[in-house]
Amino acid sequence: MRTHVAEPRLCPTCSDILRFEILDDERFLVAWSCVNCGLIRTTEPV
Ligand SMILES: [Zn+2]
Repeated sequence: MRTHVAEPRLCPTCSDILRFEILDDERFLVAWSCVNCGLIRTTEPV
């Protein structure tokens, strides 16, 4: 079995590495932004 290392998320548009920014530490709200095409995704675990 292969172990999953915490690999950086990739942009679904240009496959560039996304940079993440913690918006809300208590709610684990994280914004992923792509510096290449300007895409921004936010993740908020339910
Ligand atoms: Zn991108």
